[in-house]
Amino acid sequence: MSYDFQYERNKMIDEQLIPRGISSATVLNAIQTVPRHAFVPQAAQIAAYFDGPIQIGFGQTISQPYIVAYMTEQIEPAPGKKILEIGTGSGYQAAILSFLGCQVYTIELIEEHSENAKRIFTALGYDNIIARQGNGYAGWIEKAPFDAIIVTAAPEFIPPELISQLANGGKMIVPVGKNHSVQSLLLLTKTDGEIKTEELLPVRFVPMVE
Ligand code: SAH
Repeated sequence: MSYDFQYERNKMIDEQLIPRGISSATVLNAIQTVPRHAFVPQAAQIAAYFDGPIQIGFGQTISQPYIVAYMTEQIEPAPGKKILEIGTGSGYQAAILSFLGCQVYTIELIEEHSENAKRIFTALGYDNIIARQGNGYAGWIEKAPFDAIIVTAAPEFIPPELISQLANGGKMIVPVGKNHSVQSLLLLTKTDGEIKTEELLPVRFVPMVE
């Protein structure tokens, strides 16, 4: 059997997540269980548990563990919720939501990344994720509305299609700002068709390509 990296995952939780305020027991349990190293190329496996984002090819990044945990907590995942992710990337964020019992729809612009993530979902048995190649600006109209939308690449403006595909009572988390500069992580809540926007944190994501 190959090494399971459980020690590294426990350490990541104790040193990177709990001290910074991640407190949801279900989110911590998901991060403690989902094998983050399985979503990065073999040579980068140990780096998967470092306290930062890592580049894993073709402009693709796997977000910092803390940011994955934080964004996951903010959208309040729960079993049976329907969630749309923009930017499948490695597939790690989708796997965390899948582990939490959500029905996950995830869109990735680059075909190779999408196919690679699909292979990993199948190999590890994450069967409540539907992944496809496409441009996230259009969302996934056939499957709307979504209880939550998580955008993991940074657009310069909030894509209007995504706002309209958010269910009433739903939450959307999205890093908004200019390419290659500091962006602002926003949390939108839709109530009776009205959008309330909250600014959470300064962040740096790869651009959401138009
Ligand atoms: N959520 C990922 C990290 C995403 S990195 C993970 O857990 O690993 C951002 C990803 O967004 C990249 O793979 C990039 O190709 C993709 N992306 C960029 N613009 C996009 C767009 N317009 N639509 C869909 N995906 C896009």
